[in-house]
Amino acid sequence: MRLRSAPYTLELRHAFGIASNSRTSTPATLVALEHEGVVGYGEAAMPPYLGESQASAAAFHARAADFLATVRDPFQREEILPAIDALAPGNTAAKAAVDLALHDWIGKKLGAPWYRIWGLDPAKAPVTSYTIGIDTEPVVREKTREAAPYKIIKVKLGRDAATDRMMIDAIRAETDKPITVDANQGWRDREAALRMIEWLAGRNVEFIEQPMPKEQPDDTAWLRERSPLPLIADESVQRLPDVAKAVGVFHGINIKLMKCTGLREAERMVTLARALGLKVMLGCMTETSCAISAAAQLSPRVDWADLDGAVLIKNDCFLGATIEDGRITLPDRPGLGLLPGTGMPFSGQG
Ligand code: MG
Repeated sequence: MRLRSAPYTLELRHAFGIASNSRTSTPATLVALEHEGVVGYGEAAMPPYLGESQASAAAFHARAADFLATVRDPFQREEILPAIDALAPGNTAAKAAVDLALHDWIGKKLGAPWYRIWGLDPAKAPVTSYTIGIDTEPVVREKTREAAPYKIIKVKLGRDAATDRMMIDAIRAETDKPITVDANQGWRDREAALRMIEWLAGRNVEFIEQPMPKEQPDDTAWLRERSPLPLIADESVQRLPDVAKAVGVFHGINIKLMKCTGLREAERMVTLARALGLKVMLGCMTETSCAISAAAQLSPRVDWADLDGAVLIKNDCFLGATIEDGRITLPDRPGLGLLPGTGMPFSGQG
């Protein structure tokens, strides 16, 4: 199999603020995996705070290309993807790009979308939230109005208590639709975190994502015993072995392709989380419709989805899963369901 990769910088529609930083673009790398005239596409989206870069992805994909050139049967997903994972530690987004491209190739070769290969009902794809980053009151109100087509708003909190309350009050001045909260590890004091969650529980908030730092599982478990709202692990859970550690600490987990190396492991994480009695959310980075459509294939199995990453960027270069009336809508195309769009760096390939 022939692997090509190209850097592709995602331009954000709005500067995006979370508890620890703010940014206007996200570095990404796109890949194309070709064999017997069929091309599968994949993507690595790499927010800088996670430690990967276009340079680290290029280095990893050069090694992956050497290995993939030796692959004779691309359907041997259970041989190929563990070998890719073993090439180097970390590099989870770069690995996800290869995983997505292989899934896209296999689905195209079989002539079936992955939700069908997995036996899922596309009508059960969930609604997705629309994310509002930390910003000033007028901007938050404007973004809330822009979120009109969505049934749920996800809001980033965790910078300080006054900003947290301002953000919620600004949204509530515009709409009473459900809100989910992502504190991105921003609450360090468990008593203060509990007071904030109790305040939020009276304001039609559904759950809290990663309230406290991942280094404070004991405080998070204390909070879980008392919280009136479910707590969902994000930064605390990256890969399959982390899922069991969430039991007793969180009520559920947020799975993201870019931190768990792609669809093969994400599907296992859903199964393990269910067996352990955990709720499951499917999340994303800012990503093109390539990675979003991959996550969408798995979305009929989860409780909540936060798959708005492609609508938050200006230069999406794929057509794929769409959001209709707030709900994830899967195309009837094979593989990840993609069509190349404007600016896609491997143009001219099917
Ligand atoms: Mg999160």
